[in-house]
Amino acid sequence: MSLFRQLRILVLLLILLLVAAGTWLSQWRTTDWDTPLVVALYPIVGDDSAKTQDFVRALSVDDFVDIETLFQEEANEYGLSLTQPVDVVLGPVLDQSPPAPPTERSLLATVWWSLNMRYWGWQVAREYGPPADIQIFVLFHDPALRSRLQHSLGLRKGLLGVVHAFADLRQVGTNNVIIAHEFLHTLGASDKYDPRTSLPLYPAGYAEPQRVPLFPQRYAEIMGGRIPQSKNTAVQPRGFSEVLVGESTAREIRWIP
Ligand SMILES: [Zn+2]
Repeated sequence: MSLFRQLRILVLLLILLLVAAGTWLSQWRTTDWDTPLVVALYPIVGDDSAKTQDFVRALSVDDFVDIETLFQEEANEYGLSLTQPVDVVLGPVLDQSPPAPPTERSLLATVWWSLNMRYWGWQVAREYGPPADIQIFVLFHDPALRSRLQHSLGLRKGLLGVVHAFADLRQVGTNNVIIAHEFLHTLGASDKYDPRTSLPLYPAGYAEPQRVPLFPQRYAEIMGGRIPQSKNTAVQPRGFSEVLVGESTAREIRWIP
């Protein structure tokens, strides 16, 4: 192996080590729950539709305030002493989109994309603010142009999320549930549904796993995603009145030991 190649690998390893250490530190700090976590939401117009444009320009922080309320109520249920765990702030509408995730499933491509994504997020924060612990980029799409959205994602332990949402007033509740779900990924919460069927996993993905009879469930567990109606069916929650944070998720984000 040439000296140059060895050096290049060494530098790459160093960068990864630094990123890993920084991530571990921020992960620890973001889940100590001694001050509210500030989450910056950046709306992005995701297509050429005039409807999407109008929808995004009309957004205000009030459209997202129920995310704060959800975490307030749920943290209280778990006896957290911090009364407001999450503070949502609205960043400016961005006219650029985050780096697209890799289409191939390779570790190197994923690592490269994740580094790019962090660098991009850092640049946005530096250029536009607002100061925040976590950034979520929300790309809005006109439902008339596409009925299915790309997958949203929260960089586990990366403090960044990318959410695909519908530019439609009737979808505001569902959009916010997805934002809250991806936000929890950034804190290290894991998915609690079967990726092949989208059905919540029992018991961790159930909001009330002890309920008798078990079906139909009344709520969705936020990381389980949907409300189980029977062993093989589940429905999407319409908003936070139908969503809870389950015990397993609460443990992952260190609300309980
Ligand atoms: Zn997820």
